[in-house]
Amino acid sequence: MKSTRTTMLAAAAASALLLGVGATSAQNAAPAAGETFSKTCRVTQARNNAIQKQEPFKAFDNLYYVGPCYVAVWILTTPQGHIMFDTAQEPFVDDVIANIQKVGINPRDIKYIVLSHGHLDHVGGAARLQEVTGARVVAVAEDWDMIAALDGKVGNRDPKPNRVPKRDMVVKEGDTLKLGDQALTFHQMPGHTPGVLTTEGIKVRDSGQTYTAILMGGGGYRGGLKEAEQSVVTADRVAAIKGVQVNMQIHSWAEPAGYPGGGVLERSFKLKDRKPGDPNPFVDPVTWEARAKAAQAGARRAVETEKAKAAAPK
Ligand SMILES: [Zn+2]
Repeated sequence: MKSTRTTMLAAAAASALLLGVGATSAQNAAPAAGETFSKTCRVTQARNNAIQKQEPFKAFDNLYYVGPCYVAVWILTTPQGHIMFDTAQEPFVDDVIANIQKVGINPRDIKYIVLSHGHLDHVGGAARLQEVTGARVVAVAEDWDMIAALDGKVGNRDPKPNRVPKRDMVVKEGDTLKLGDQALTFHQMPGHTPGVLTTEGIKVRDSGQTYTAILMGGGGYRGGLKEAEQSVVTADRVAAIKGVQVNMQIHSWAEPAGYPGGGVLERSFKLKDRKPGDPNPFVDPVTWEARAKAAQAGARRAVETEKAKAAAPK
């Protein structure tokens, strides 16, 4: 009996501890002194796992952030199950799973895991999350090939070789996904990788209002004239999508080109401090449109740069 009582006390202490954590759960670790989150998460503390670990937070009534500071992981909830966007990578996956549970979501209720593109920082946790959740894993064919090529290699953050998810749902341009009250449309938008997967038509709710969100699956091009030219087409297609009010950034820091008003973590602080009746800081169509225009100009400059490079004497 004594051991049972000890166990019960230990359990009570553990839940008190959890409650303590829960009380501050909207508060993420601050950036280092004199730095933005962008610099802390992406540059100076990119390898500091203690700093990378972030508390999860609720961005909208039906949208949670559960990722580390380097790379975003979002969960869109519906009464019929949930949709997860990206998985982060090892050694962050235990924290992602803990964060999912901390916001009260049963991992087994996640029905789909949508992979924004095939780079390890976004897909490195997908094998474990596929097993833990039993969800269907969604990606574009070209990036399923990239994911397969990561198998068994050693990544940039963890000494253990990569594990990759079993190739599962292959989606292509214009495919749709319906779950609960969500009807999502997928776009293949190459440039950053061949199979960048952008998700349009995400509906998020706050204070009785519904807003339209987008998750743009990849950032800028990473070199090459073909990729730069693809990025022009992609940037024009992104800019043509009307009615975007919320940008679900795939990295929690502001994009390298800058996102006025801040990235995910800056906005999480504003959200925490908001007064009743204040708008949700993630609703920002003006910044989205400016960003879309800047991406169009940036992609065109990249083509010029690549052409100049090609024309330069060797
Ligand atoms: Zn990438």
